[in-house]
Amino acid sequence: MDKHTVPAVRQAVCDTARAMADSGLTAGTWGNVSGRVDDTFMVITPSGMDYHRLTPEQMVLVNMRTGEYEGGLKPSVEVPLHARLLLTRPEVGGIIHTHSPKALAVAAAHRGIPAVCDDQVQILGGSIRCAPYTMPGTREMADTVAQALEGRMGALIANHGAVAMGRTLSEALTAAVVLEKTAQVWIDAQALGGAVEISDEDCAFFHDFFLHKYGQK
Ligand code: 13P
Ligand code: ZN
Repeated sequence: MDKHTVPAVRQAVCDTARAMADSGLTAGTWGNVSGRVDDTFMVITPSGMDYHRLTPEQMVLVNMRTGEYEGGLKPSVEVPLHARLLLTRPEVGGIIHTHSPKALAVAAAHRGIPAVCDDQVQILGGSIRCAPYTMPGTREMADTVAQALEGRMGALIANHGAVAMGRTLSEALTAAVVLEKTAQVWIDAQALGGAVEISDEDCAFFHDFFLHKYGQK
């Protein structure tokens, strides 16, 4: 492990966790945030702590392969989920698990969201699937959510919340905000007779555009 990268990841995880709370993407101490250090270690938020009092030093360094962690604070109960995703998705650098209200409204209905918004398709890769309800913090939840995230950067978890990922934590935060906004748009569009879907072909084209061509060099 490159010890020099750990403080920067701790800072980014702490800043993102606070931004998640400030954006209304979660209430209380629920939700959690992780950032990749390398292919064995991640930094994750400590379990059940007030996001507005967290310091970067309190972010927990975890060995994703063994579950062992450093320091006196317990890591998030969702270590199995974050570790599974970071170990199997090498392109992912940061993960945010939220309990955001509109996403949760759709997830409470055990529904997914079709591809209906351009920014959704670009950053999340297409439709948003809903993983079944499983016990938080379990390997079963890690398995089912990883499956729902195949080929995507965001998914819902039935009766629980959402997960958004990015190449960086900043991108993961944008993905979490876009996911929540998409849920809101999809719910609102029902009142107008339902949203019209974007084709699979256009989803693939615009996700690739986002990953490789969008923005400044
Ligand atoms: P932690 O506070 O342990 O991260 O748990 C919150 C949560 O959302 C569990 O799913
Ligand atoms: Zn949760």
